[in-house]
Amino acid sequence: MDPDLLTVRSPFVNFHVLADESGLHLLDAGFIGGARLLARALERRGWSDRPLRGIILTHGHLDHILNVASIARETGAWIAAPRLDADHYAGRPVYRGPSRVVGILESIGRPLLGFKSFTPDRWLDDGDLIEVWQGLRVVHLPGHTAGHSGFLCQRRKLLFCGDLFASYRAFSHLPPTVLNMDRELVSLSVSRALSLDLEGVIPNHADAASPAEHLARLSSQAARRG
Ligand SMILES: [Zn+2]
Repeated sequence: MDPDLLTVRSPFVNFHVLADESGLHLLDAGFIGGARLLARALERRGWSDRPLRGIILTHGHLDHILNVASIARETGAWIAAPRLDADHYAGRPVYRGPSRVVGILESIGRPLLGFKSFTPDRWLDDGDLIEVWQGLRVVHLPGHTAGHSGFLCQRRKLLFCGDLFASYRAFSHLPPTVLNMDRELVSLSVSRALSLDLEGVIPNHADAASPAEHLARLSSQAARRG
């Protein structure tokens, strides 16, 4: 267990809490029940009293941003998010290509689940440095969405890779075509991620394997695709 990293798990999607001397930061904010799962996880870790300073987003899909507005309002946390997914945060995502199906599902889900739109305090672009956790570098990994980005902690050779792939033991897979805006771009983004000097990756849709094991699964996915 990492002393300054807490993964909030749900059967569908995980998100992360990063702790440093300034307080806590979320990496994505979960889906249905996310706020409750977060409170419970913080309590179990003994972090309930630490201030939540910011929320950093990997991309604009509803299962990652559903709770952002409400958590930011309650805690005063700032929001930093990839610029190219701005239409998602505004609640008017433009889906093209095979992922149009996701657009239809989300348009049903937003009102049903009480999604509130928000405007990030900081727009993220490739190469930006976020002064959290001793430095997270934004790595643009488009294809899943236009803005989809990972966050590289150089100190630990660790990449938070969002939805670049899903990692569930034998069921590890790249996101199904229908969930991606651009399949070719996903392949390029996988290659880009694997070209980084890494010891591990942490995806959001994943079991409790180690970051090194997730990285091995990503490599074998890429090899299989040739
Ligand atoms: Zn996604």
